[in-house]
Amino acid sequence: MKTLPQPSDRAFVPFVSVANMMRLVHTIGLERMLIELAGYIEEDFRRWPLFDKTPRVAAHSAEGVIELMPTSDGQQYAFKYVNGHPTNTKSGLQTVTAFGLLADVSTGYPTLLTEMTLLTAIRTAATSAMVARQLAPEGAKTMAMIGNGAQSEFQSLAMKAVLGIDTVQLYDIDRAATQKAARNLAAHGLKVVQCATPESAIEGAQIITTCTADKQFATILSDNMVGAGVHINAIGGDCPGKTELAPAILHRASIFVEYPPQTRVEGEIQQLAEDHPVTELWQVITGAAEGRVSPGQITLFDSVGFAIEDFSALRYVRDRLDGTELFQQLDMLADPDDPRDLFGMLGRARP
Ligand code: NAD
Repeated sequence: MKTLPQPSDRAFVPFVSVANMMRLVHTIGLERMLIELAGYIEEDFRRWPLFDKTPRVAAHSAEGVIELMPTSDGQQYAFKYVNGHPTNTKSGLQTVTAFGLLADVSTGYPTLLTEMTLLTAIRTAATSAMVARQLAPEGAKTMAMIGNGAQSEFQSLAMKAVLGIDTVQLYDIDRAATQKAARNLAAHGLKVVQCATPESAIEGAQIITTCTADKQFATILSDNMVGAGVHINAIGGDCPGKTELAPAILHRASIFVEYPPQTRVEGEIQQLAEDHPVTELWQVITGAAEGRVSPGQITLFDSVGFAIEDFSALRYVRDRLDGTELFQQLDMLADPDDPRDLFGMLGRARP
């Protein structure tokens, strides 16, 4: 059992590798982690006005995007480095990879460095489910999962753990991706149905999740595919020029977003006029704005992923690490005996 560095020993930064993140997930249990993390995210959405907020800083290329996502609540500061490269999978690389850092605002010293590829999938799924808890029709039991890549199993299990769905209907243009997701989900207590068309995946579903990757304006859902009363959880459109829904759906739906200045650039609503009304999710959570108001309403979570969700995930991991063996101490910060004698510290390594 290891304890996290105390303020007197801040030269060492706890680092969670991919291997240790996998162990942490198994130690806690994935579904429990999704539920607990949804709670942390909801807690941080409740104190939304406290946070420093800025649209993420994106460097675009023909193949994808690299982004930095910073935020702070005044006590702790966090950032995530994340990429999105839809063509990566063709060369055996992932579409999305990430790592992130948490720091103490009062000293500026980092308090956690961690892999965030797995953690992003878990936090994105926890956010989807936390939002669906607010917006999905009552008693939702069936979800459609369109796009069966890296995020899809996490998305499905979060809706089961947090919302109680019992059936997932899978569809992907690549049949092998659907088979992979069905295999992975087989022993997790969900009825898993593999569908040959997006229409059959949507049939009877109260929640429709779209999580595809393509750097273009795509139409994963066309207007005639979406009936009254459903909740759409649109994950995949998260970049300028990369969307999943036909604009007509957006005109029929009540649209809920994380942080409008970022979503207007990156989300499905980039297809709409700049003043098209949207509701900020944190206001639904605090009760300042209405969520679902009628059974026939189409609710849409135009998810792009916001820094505060990563902040919550980092805060959660840091809270769950103490007393475990699941981190290494990184010698990442210089610690001269006299803080002003950085030069003198070099003497420690003199050959
Ligand atoms: P991935 O490449 O592993 O999977 C994407 C899947 O979509 C692939 O299996 C592909 O075959 C499928 N697909 C592509 N076009 C399709 C279509 N027309 N119909 C059906 N399926 C189609 O990617 P991933 O890691 O699962 O991520 C998916 C998307 O989610 C990416 O665009 C990523 O940027 C986005 N994402 C968003 C958030 C967020 O917070 N909103 C977080 C993580 C990832």
